[in-house]
Amino acid sequence: MCSVITHPVVPLALSVFLPEGTSSSALLIAGAVCSVIPDLDVIGFSFGISYGDMLGHRGLSHSISFAVVLATLLTLTLFRDAHANHFVVFLFLFLSTLSHPLLDALTNGGLGVALFAPFSNERYFFPWRPIEVSPIGVGSFLSARGLQVLWSEFKWVWLPSSVVFAVGQIIRRYVYS
Ligand SMILES: [Zn+2]
Repeated sequence: MCSVITHPVVPLALSVFLPEGTSSSALLIAGAVCSVIPDLDVIGFSFGISYGDMLGHRGLSHSISFAVVLATLLTLTLFRDAHANHFVVFLFLFLSTLSHPLLDALTNGGLGVALFAPFSNERYFFPWRPIEVSPIGVGSFLSARGLQVLWSEFKWVWLPSSVVFAVGQIIRRYVYS
């Protein structure tokens, strides 16, 4: 995984493209939560589920199907009455969730992500994996290794996301002015 503070950076950057009237703090918070939810699968370790299982770490919760189901459920419950374009809400929540396994697939450790679960448990990585894998557990951040992970996430996630956000802001200003 990337660290829990880095995953939400992607939905926050993407939110710049939400149309007027659809963007709301509730939707931004939901997007941020969606981007970290897949890692709740680490709970499985306590129940003896091994890393490589379909329900193990980076398994089903890191799949495209999971992102579709989670985004659909949230759109139909939390945002059912929102005066917003429901397809855009769904798309934002879907991309927010999917950004998690895609970032994980850019990390240099652990097993790959089961993007096509539950249909296949094959684990995938991108051919290029510049992001230092984050240790599981908060204590591990208070170390040289932790700082190395944060620096790598800053370079490969925070910086590109800031550029996307800035470009989005410029486009918005141009389109709405
Ligand atoms: Zn993950």
